[in-house]
Amino acid sequence: MKLLLATHNEHKRREFERLLAGGASSQLQVQVLPEDLELPPEAGETFAENALAKARAAADASGGASFADDSGIAAAALGGAPGVRSARYAGEHASDGENLRKLMREVPVGGALEYVCAIAYVDPVRGVERLFEGRCTGRLAAEPRGERGFGYDPAFLPDDGPDGLTMAELGDEQKDLISHRGNAARAMLAWLERERAA
Ligand code: IMP
Repeated sequence: MKLLLATHNEHKRREFERLLAGGASSQLQVQVLPEDLELPPEAGETFAENALAKARAAADASGGASFADDSGIAAAALGGAPGVRSARYAGEHASDGENLRKLMREVPVGGALEYVCAIAYVDPVRGVERLFEGRCTGRLAAEPRGERGFGYDPAFLPDDGPDGLTMAELGDEQKDLISHRGNAARAMLAWLERERAA
């Protein structure tokens, strides 16, 4: 089965290829979005709305089953911000580093954080749309550490990870096991498996 992934984010593409390629779902092939296919702006107020808009755009353009995620980080001290604005928290074209520094200025060390990921699956042939969600809770580290991952990972101490390590210090498999994207991807995989068996 082929699934088109509606993202131009290289980190997300690699994570989804790892998450969806193995095990019982090895018949699943993740296809990469053509470079020139433009995705709609993330104008929604929820992760689900944005994910659905991207997956629909890819399904319309390709005519085949497509999926997209929208994700971000929510800080309890900021009433859930930056949320859907995580990628542009420090400004419209802010870098990961600028967004991270802004979060570290505004959230106290040890403050509660949560990564959220919504995945939308759209099959235009069967007229099916489904939403899946994954979460990962953690706390703000005193200083950024680690070279892996992306975005806010260097300052994110996951509650379910090895003691004291930031998300950017975890290996790929360790991150996948506990991450918001991993949890959402596993929910979609389980549903796809049930569909296939039905
Ligand atoms: P979007 O889903 O393309 O809107 O981007 C989500 C933004 O949330 C990214 O640019 C990162 O800043 C942040 N984010 C989402 N998932 C992760 C993650 O797994 N690690 C670190 N940052 C993330």
